[in-house]
Amino acid sequence: MFDLIPLIKAIGYLGIFIIVFAESGLFIGFFLPGDSLIFTAGFLASQGFLNIWDLIFLIFIAAVIGDNFGYAFGKKVGPMIFKREDSFLFHKDNLNKAKMFYEKYGGKAIILARFMPGIRTFAPILAGVGKMQYSKFLSFNIIGGALWGIGLPLLGYYLGNVIPNIDRYIVFIVLLIIFISVSPMIWHVVKDKATRDRILNTLLNALHTKATKYAGKLVVFNWKMNPETLESAIDMARKSDHKNIVVAPPFVFIEEIGKIIKTAKLGAQDLFYKNTNGGSFTGEISASELVNLGVKYAIIGHSERRAMGESDEIISKKIKTALDNGLIPILCVGESKKESGSMNNELSVSSKEFVRDQLEKDLFLIRNSSFSIHNSLIVAYEPIWAIGTGNNCSPEVALEMIKFIKSLSGSLAPALAKSEVGVPTAERVGIVGCRLLVLYGGSVNSKNISDFLKYKEIDGVLVGGASLDPKLFF
Ligand code: PEP
Repeated sequence: MFDLIPLIKAIGYLGIFIIVFAESGLFIGFFLPGDSLIFTAGFLASQGFLNIWDLIFLIFIAAVIGDNFGYAFGKKVGPMIFKREDSFLFHKDNLNKAKMFYEKYGGKAIILARFMPGIRTFAPILAGVGKMQYSKFLSFNIIGGALWGIGLPLLGYYLGNVIPNIDRYIVFIVLLIIFISVSPMIWHVVKDKATRDRILNTLLNALHTKATKYAGKLVVFNWKMNPETLESAIDMARKSDHKNIVVAPPFVFIEEIGKIIKTAKLGAQDLFYKNTNGGSFTGEISASELVNLGVKYAIIGHSERRAMGESDEIISKKIKTALDNGLIPILCVGESKKESGSMNNELSVSSKEFVRDQLEKDLFLIRNSSFSIHNSLIVAYEPIWAIGTGNNCSPEVALEMIKFIKSLSGSLAPALAKSEVGVPTAERVGIVGCRLLVLYGGSVNSKNISDFLKYKEIDGVLVGGASLDPKLFF
């Protein structure tokens, strides 16, 4: 960064053109020092090393063509890019940030993103993925390209002319530019607890090298009303703290467990059905209280709660409240012995009908919801006869039911079936475009878990009793 002056002198007009082009529209360009580079180039023009008019013309053209290239690329590869795995040069996180930015500001994002490192590279690509009208894109691109590609070098040129001995301060000015350009992102991080936590978790995850045994799947540990003491809960949490694990402790332990786990995610076993902050609801826990404690998932409609009188109507309200608060619901559905007929060897029509009916009722209130990019829904198929009995459903029957549930998603809530990023994987939970995951639950333990997870359609498992001895799973 501090060597920008010799760098620019060495690479000349062609080098500047290539860097601006790459940073504007190539994935690999997101880390390039665009703002400081073109400002410093403007400054160098004021010192007679470059011609300012040639320079701004060239930067403007490179910026506009670069964005155009990004747009064309996005349009061509479309949703496929969301499936790419992270690599040194490609970070899905940047792509997601750009998408959020884009959804917030619409077409104007193309202009604003010019001034935001990282997002600058992904915004035109996303405009292409989203098939933004080309004429609209082009006008925003030209305006943004002019404001940025002409404005910043001219600023460098102007300051170079008016401030005597500016070369002494150039490093500070460049630092200031970098600070100003990243400050909206810093502000977002400071302001938003969820973003802060995510960044912290990512850093901690990077330091944490525990094996990811359940890669691509989600394993939910439902502790039910266990254990008795906080001390034991902390011990269990430490042993469960692995990637792809959701730990759902009793409410009383949630806050402490949230401080213990670094890699696993926090879940709640229930939540209050109304979307309200505070109020006269003795004994209840609101979605916002859970979110404030760092909870990401909420189990809803567990058969043990249904048995205590929880109705589908209340469950539907809970699902909506969870989604409205950014929690990922884990909706439990499943038939009892009565409907299942031949039980665990083959899937009966009555089981399917029962589950379909439950889903229709439980998802009733979100039927017409358009899911925000953060929302996902998880359904756990938990045949009641298999819960806590040691008598698990056969993996093949679970598979058939899970396929059936997935096939229903479009008719249950059309937005669930929208899969602009292809088949969701558990790693994408809560991330752009992931809509529906379906898990199996019912007497899963460390011995039979892989019999379920080996099927790609089974996105994970919900483990009750066996999760109280987590070390067996790792
Ligand atoms: C559950 O609590 O949802 C559950 C599946 O329990 P278990 O694993 O003990 O059957």
